[in-house]
Amino acid sequence: MSHTDPDCIFCKIVEGRIPSRKVHEDDEVFAFHDIHPWAPVHFLLIPKRHIVSMAHVGPEDAGLLGRMMALVPVLAKQEGCRPYPDGGFRLVTNTGADGGQEVAHLHFHVIGGPRPWLKG
Ligand code: AMP
Ligand code: ZN
Repeated sequence: MSHTDPDCIFCKIVEGRIPSRKVHEDDEVFAFHDIHPWAPVHFLLIPKRHIVSMAHVGPEDAGLLGRMMALVPVLAKQEGCRPYPDGGFRLVTNTGADGGQEVAHLHFHVIGGPRPWLKG
């Protein structure tokens, strides 16, 4: 399986072929601000490798996904989410058409900051 899809908008963001406002980058993960934020904090956390969706995740991805989940609270705090329990954040992963997924590259929305929000 290819690690990059040449037609994928998020693969292009990882490669710097489409600009983004970067939040974090390491060997296997990239995070950037959502272009249409719902809330004061709204960024997307993605694997650099082209995994289409949560429906495509297998046992071989468990380590990567675990490391991504462990990054969420670190990046949420870094980007301005207030501390738990009065603050916190929402973690959303849309999967497939019924799940409302628009971009076919696995991504975790991290959404937070003081309410009201535009949606969610
Ligand atoms: P989903 O509906 O879960 O697939 O969400 C896709 C998200 O990607 C939406 O919230 C879009 O606003 C966001 N998005 C699409 N294109 C870009 C882009 N070029 N830079 C940043 N965010 C994007
Ligand atoms: Zn991709």
